[in-house]
Amino acid sequence: MRVKGPTVRKYLKKYIAAPEHRIRLKDFNSDDVLHDSMIVKNGEDIKDTLENLLAKDRTALARAQELLAASRKHSILIVLQGMDTAGKDGTIQHVMSGLNPQGCEVHSFKVPTSEDHAHDFLWRYEKVLPERGMIGIFNRSYYEDVLVVHVHPDRIEDLPESIGPNTKGFWEGRYRDINAFEKHLVRNGTVILKIFLHISRDEQKRRLLARLENEEKYWKFSYSDIAERQYWGEYIAAYEEMLSATSTEYAPWFIVPADHKWMARTVVAELITSAIEGLRLSYPKFSPDQIQHFTAAKETLEKE
Ligand code: AMP
Ligand code: MG
Repeated sequence: MRVKGPTVRKYLKKYIAAPEHRIRLKDFNSDDVLHDSMIVKNGEDIKDTLENLLAKDRTALARAQELLAASRKHSILIVLQGMDTAGKDGTIQHVMSGLNPQGCEVHSFKVPTSEDHAHDFLWRYEKVLPERGMIGIFNRSYYEDVLVVHVHPDRIEDLPESIGPNTKGFWEGRYRDINAFEKHLVRNGTVILKIFLHISRDEQKRRLLARLENEEKYWKFSYSDIAERQYWGEYIAAYEEMLSATSTEYAPWFIVPADHKWMARTVVAELITSAIEGLRLSYPKFSPDQIQHFTAAKETLEKE
């Protein structure tokens, strides 16, 4: 059986990290702005145009989600990755505002607990996968287990020497495990949308400074973000290796330009909407017998 990837609008295809290719992030503009039909004159126009599109997307997304819930055949798993300050939280907040909260679950993954580390690396993610009819959003994911710990091998769980990160092919093994895991999910009706929010190093600096210049943003600041910034090059290398190894036909990565927040949010909303619409779902069908029962029920109610 061929396992198909998500269907997305034509103009979004340029953000796909081509499967079986060596991915270089510098080939993808982090400050790209949409899209052929948009007439953009200056920064403010971009924001207005995208806000309008986002408002339209919210309506489309709400309808798509209702169909997903009504038909209960598929689930949607959205995997969000990105450097610190890439806009994962803000994107989730905006996309969620168009969704019915009862049909959507967000899971944010932090430093693993000792219980997490006592299991295989996929365990904590597997436990909270979305059921049929639901949208699950992973704010960070099992990809951290080939990213942050690839850059900092001392943060990986305690593994026997013979199978640990110093063994040959360790990371390739993890990529293969992830690919197999995702293929299994897709084959069972999950649509996986993997989104990398792509920001430039300069934009990260601006955003970190903004957090330090505004008291109301202090709470978002973390010293570890400054420390991790020193490893920018190592993170890019880890991301490129991971994207090259795990962008597949059935679960491709989308490298979404995220230097402009509104741009990223709109593209993400459009990706989700088109992926659900692409499933060509329909409301459940009822037999003539069942419809007769509904008619009888309606008459009973009307007679009250
Ligand atoms: P934040 O997303 O800013 O709340 O930070 C979450 C932190 O958890 C980041 O510093 C991540 O690097 C860290 N983290 C998330 N997943 C893992 C993981 N699997 N292994 C190690 N650190 C992780
Ligand atoms: Mg953070």
